[in-house]
Amino acid sequence: MDTIIGKEELLEEAGSLIRAGQLVAFPTETVYGLGADATNEKAVASIFEAKGRPQDNPLIVHIASADELKNVAREVPESAYELMSIFSPGPLTIVLKKQNGIPKITTGGLDTVGIRIPDHPLALKLIRSAGVPVAAPSANRSGRISPTEAEHVYEDMRGRIPMILDGGKTRVGIESTVLDLTKETPIILRPGAVTAEMLAPFLGKVKTKGGEVLVAEAPGMKYRHYAPVCPASGVKDARTAKEIYNRQLSAGRHPVIIAGEELLRDVPGQYAVLSLGSSPESAMGSLFSSLRKAEKVYDFILLQWFDAEEYASLQNRIEKACGGNCF
Ligand code: AMP
Ligand code: MG
Repeated sequence: MDTIIGKEELLEEAGSLIRAGQLVAFPTETVYGLGADATNEKAVASIFEAKGRPQDNPLIVHIASADELKNVAREVPESAYELMSIFSPGPLTIVLKKQNGIPKITTGGLDTVGIRIPDHPLALKLIRSAGVPVAAPSANRSGRISPTEAEHVYEDMRGRIPMILDGGKTRVGIESTVLDLTKETPIILRPGAVTAEMLAPFLGKVKTKGGEVLVAEAPGMKYRHYAPVCPASGVKDARTAKEIYNRQLSAGRHPVIIAGEELLRDVPGQYAVLSLGSSPESAMGSLFSSLRKAEKVYDFILLQWFDAEEYASLQNRIEKACGGNCF
């Protein structure tokens, strides 16, 4: 199958493809999604096939406005509408009880469904043009680094899907916060740019799962994620980074240090480095593209391990990319 890449001009065709049960990759503000008609079992099955994704890993259903909530969820609490009025469109996914029209394959076998309104004009236009809720996980091969540029999607999905909509680099850079509203106490299943602190005033106490492995209720907890093709390991400071770097060099490898500006200030010019900038936002925006860049040129990645609370969502991805390893 040929994979076409294009922009706005493909929107109508993209909408028809989704309606016809085909797959279209599209930009959102978080990462690129791999979309299909969320109500069509066969179409959704082909998402799992194209990604090589385990079937018990649920997909997020994307809608264009809060009015569509009732089409995909049942017993929608008032708090869901309130949260959406504040955080949507945006990087917040809300888990609710699913409506009958959403098949179990979309929700990884669960009776609940994750729902989000993406904050990207192309994504919203695609959903409207398709006229159906769009199920979409990140548009990478399962276990690989999430795509933040159309080119990344092409690397992973070339020949597997008919179309990629190109909306440039994604603004946020890591996946949405997933908030489960079906439990007595709202719980964050996956951290993201919308933090517990931001949600708390609207919900009272919000719990986080703190990265512990429970069941595969939320993807990103049980399976390998964000894995570069070469080994990657965490480092907490510049001294350790330089020490491991030199050890790898002596062993004949080509290492690279990926870190924030503050750590890199103590790393001299002869070391290969990729900067994550100097704020949580810039680090979120550049982590996945830095990993994809690094794995093409180097064969050992040293990735900064962040302790600060503002970096918690990013650190969640970093730990997975490193398979939990830190020097
Ligand atoms: P991906 O888009 O590939 O990053 O994965 C989809 C995300 O959706 C996962 O990280 C889950 O946290 C979330 N998700 C979707 N539906 C549900 C659900 N019914 N229950 C819990 N989490 C969900
Ligand atoms: Mg993913």
